[in-house]
Amino acid sequence: MTASTVPTVPTMLRLTDRWGRTADDLRISLIDKCNLRCTYCMPAEGLPWLKKDELLTADEAVRLADIGVRVLGVKDIRFTGGEPLVRKDLADIIRGVRTLHPEVSISITTNGIGLDKRIDELVEAGLTRVNVSLDTVDREAFTALTRRDRLPQVMAGLKAAKDAGLEPVKVNAVMMRGVNDHGAVDLAQWCLDHGYQLRFIEQMPLDADRSWARENLVSGAEIRSALSERFVLREDPAPRGSAPAQLWEVCGRDGARLGTVGIIASVTESFCAACSRTRITADGKIRSCLFSNEETDLMGLLRGNASDEDVALEWSRAMWGKPRAYGSDEITLNDEGYVQPERTMSAIGG
Ligand code: SAM
Ligand code: SF4
Repeated sequence: MTASTVPTVPTMLRLTDRWGRTADDLRISLIDKCNLRCTYCMPAEGLPWLKKDELLTADEAVRLADIGVRVLGVKDIRFTGGEPLVRKDLADIIRGVRTLHPEVSISITTNGIGLDKRIDELVEAGLTRVNVSLDTVDREAFTALTRRDRLPQVMAGLKAAKDAGLEPVKVNAVMMRGVNDHGAVDLAQWCLDHGYQLRFIEQMPLDADRSWARENLVSGAEIRSALSERFVLREDPAPRGSAPAQLWEVCGRDGARLGTVGIIASVTESFCAACSRTRITADGKIRSCLFSNEETDLMGLLRGNASDEDVALEWSRAMWGKPRAYGSDEITLNDEGYVQPERTMSAIGG
């Protein structure tokens, strides 16, 4: 074997699981705190926040990202939370990873509040892409859903991301029946008009209020049908791979192409069989699956002088045990015995 054909990542240390999947898409939650209180995610009064010394430091987050890329074959890194912009050192973390790995994709998922003030430093630090969560363009519905009157700030954040050239700027939207679902088509129109790529996400049972009910779910099929009342939708023929969103080409009634909309039907059209994600919580625990009840602690290793190889080995062991789907090898979200995980979306890192 010549030097150029030697694999840089030994098969043993890929993030492979018992079901034949390999994770190369890393989500690191940097903080559990948030400045919104979206009803599908957080309770009105917030949650007992992690203490500062329980959170990954900037150096620890960079080290984990580096081990992920260099030793375990991670290709995409997304920083999330809670709200990642609440971390003052977000640009330092991005810069730390970018300096070590000029080629890797580094993105954030954010509610967009304050993004307009930070975008230049984040792009300069090496940010590649952003996903901004925006569930409605109706100010009243926004305030009801997030329990904060901040729609203009989110729109300013989106505009700043686009002006900074971070294409495609993606918008994540969760529809809640009777709260914002009536505005789904207007939201799509607004995103198409402004050049943002909207992705509807089915609500998952990861809310702190534990009020998720299968019968209230606004499904991907319902959203497609609502969009079809104003637009003509054509399924994107490109292979989807492990991408959670099914993309649809959106055209006007006159046939003019307006853009694309994605639908992430995580509940009704499961894509677990192709999942390529590995997650680290803000307190340094591996969650092999969003819905897992089991976590593997890496923080203790990081703070106990373990080598990068020890951390990588523990991480790959945790991923080997990744459940088949929805946190289980046997049952799914739609079965009777399904138990919602202890941690909520904001505490896991979506
Ligand atoms: N605060 C940032 C934000 O809202 O974009 C990042 C963290 S948030 C937990 C990440 C994503 O998870 C958001 O797009 C949000 O809409 C989504 N999310 C939160 N709770 C959800 C739920 N119960 N079902 C589906 N998506 C959810
Ligand atoms: Fe905060 Fe994001 Fe959860 Fe909304 S979805 S409460 S913005 S963490």
